[in-house]
Amino acid sequence: MNIAIIGAGITGLTLAHQLLEQGHAVAVFEAAPRPGGELATVDVGGEPIERFYHHLFTHDRHIIALANELGVGERLEWLEPQMGYYAQGRVYPFTSPLDLLRFGALSPWARLRLGLGTLRLQRTRDYRQFEDQTAAALMPRYVGREAFDAIFADMLHAKFADRWPSVSMAWMWARLMARARTRTPDKRRERLGYFRGSFRVIVDALASSVTSRGAELHLGAPVQTIGIGEPNAPALRVRGQPVQADAVVATVGLPIIRRLLPASRRAFTDTLAATAYVGACVGLLHIREQLSGYYWTNIGDRRLPFAGLIEHTNLVEPERYGGARLLYISNYLPPEHEFFHLDDETLIDRFVDPIAHVFPKFRRDHIVHGWISRDPVAQPVIEAGYQRRKPPYASPIPGFYICNTSQIYPEDRGTNYNVRIAKQCAAQLQADEPALTSTA
Ligand SMILES: Cc1cc2nc3c(=O)[nH]c(=O)nc-3n(C[C@H](O)[C@H](O)[C@H](O)COP(=O)(O)OP(=O)(O)OC[C@H]3O[C@@H](n4cnc5c(N)ncnc54)[C@H](O)[C@@H]3O)c2cc1C
Repeated sequence: MNIAIIGAGITGLTLAHQLLEQGHAVAVFEAAPRPGGELATVDVGGEPIERFYHHLFTHDRHIIALANELGVGERLEWLEPQMGYYAQGRVYPFTSPLDLLRFGALSPWARLRLGLGTLRLQRTRDYRQFEDQTAAALMPRYVGREAFDAIFADMLHAKFADRWPSVSMAWMWARLMARARTRTPDKRRERLGYFRGSFRVIVDALASSVTSRGAELHLGAPVQTIGIGEPNAPALRVRGQPVQADAVVATVGLPIIRRLLPASRRAFTDTLAATAYVGACVGLLHIREQLSGYYWTNIGDRRLPFAGLIEHTNLVEPERYGGARLLYISNYLPPEHEFFHLDDETLIDRFVDPIAHVFPKFRRDHIVHGWISRDPVAQPVIEAGYQRRKPPYASPIPGFYICNTSQIYPEDRGTNYNVRIAKQCAAQLQADEPALTSTA
C-alpha cells in the first residue's frame, strides 16, 4: 500500500518505521523544518537539549526496545535525581518515602494516611473500577482530604489547568503506578532515563532509518486538507499539490485533524471535539548558577505562574553543555491563555520574581539566554469515562486513520506509549489492507 503520514514526531516516525517493515511505501509530511515535534531541541554549548523537558521511566519498555533496535540503546543512561516540593514558602525534599513521612506541609496524621492510601492504590491491579470516577472524587477517600488538597489537587491542576476536576481516577492511578515502578531497588529514589545527546538521538535514528529504506520525508510541508474518502478528492493537499495514497494516518492532535477535514465530515469531527486539550508553555533558561540540588521541584502554590521548576543540569552534568546550567519552567494552560500570545521576553520577565520566590538566590542577570516553547495541543484531558470516548485507529472515513496521544490511556501520555500506539496502528493497517486496496 501507499500510506501517507501527517506529522514527523515520534509517533509518525515510528509508524513509518513499522510500515516499511511490513513492506509498504510511506510518505511522511511534516510542517516544521525538522522532524521531532514535541522532542524538538535547541543547542547549548554545542549539545542538543529538548525545548520541553523529557526523561523515561525504567518500565518504558516500548521505547527502550525501539532504541535498541535502532542501535542507540546504549546512549540511554539511568540517573537518580533528587525531587523537591515547594509549599508554604519553602522547598521540602520529596524524593524518598522517608521524605514523605517528614513532609512538614502536612500534619503527621495526614502523612500517615497519605502513605497508607498510596500503598493501597499501588496494590490495586485492576484500574477498571476507577474508569467512571474522577480523581477529585475518589482520591480523598484513599489519601485523606488534607493530603489531596495539599498535593494531588495541585498536581492535577499542574497538568490539566482548570479542567482538573473532571480527570479520570484511572489516569491518576496509572500515574502513581508509573512513579512507583521507576524507583531504585531500595525505593529511596526514582530512576529516570535520558539519552546522552538528548531525545534527538532517537528522532535522528528513526529519520535516517526510514529515509534509508525509501520512505519520503517531506519537511516544511504542512498538510492543508485531508480529502481521502471524499468523491474525486486527493488523499491530501500539501503546498497546493494533490497527494494520492491508499491510506492516510494523522498523528497530529484532534483539534488539528478537525481543521484539516472538510466541512462535509462535520458529523465525525464533532465527535472529536468532545476531547478537550490543554496546551504546554515551557520556558528553558540558560542560567549562570545552580539554584538547588533538585532536578524537579513541584510547585504547590497556585499564585505562582508555573507548576514546576526543573533544573535539568541536576539530572545530567552541566559539563555536557559547556558548563551551562539549565532550568525549565513548566506550565500546562488552556490554549486561549495569554501566555500563548505574549512575546517571549515579556514572559521571561514575568517569571523572574516568582522564580526568586522559590529560589531566593535567583536574579534576572543570571539569565544568559531563554527560549519559550508553546504547543497549544499538548495534552488531551483524560476525563472520567474516557475509555468510551477514546478514538479508534480506523475512523469512519474510508482510508483515514488516527494515531495520536489521545489514544494513550490510562497511562500518562509519553514517548513510550507513542511507540506502542504506532505499532498497534501499523498492525491495524495491515489487517485492513484487503479492504483498503480493493477500494483504491
Ligand atoms: C512539556 C512536555 C513534557 C513532556 N515530558 C515527557 C517526558 O518526560 N517523557 C516522555 O516520554 N514524554 C514526554 N512528553 C510527551 C512527548 O513529548 C509526546 O508524547 C510525544 O513527543 C508526542 O509525539 P507525537 O509524534 O505523537 O506528536 P508531536 O510530537 O506533536 O508531533 C506531531 C507533528 O505533527 C506536525 N504537524 C502539525 N500540524 C501539521 C500539519 N498540518 N501538517 C504536517 N505536520 C503537522 C508537528 O509539527 C509535529 O512535528 C512531554 C510533552 C510535553 C509537551
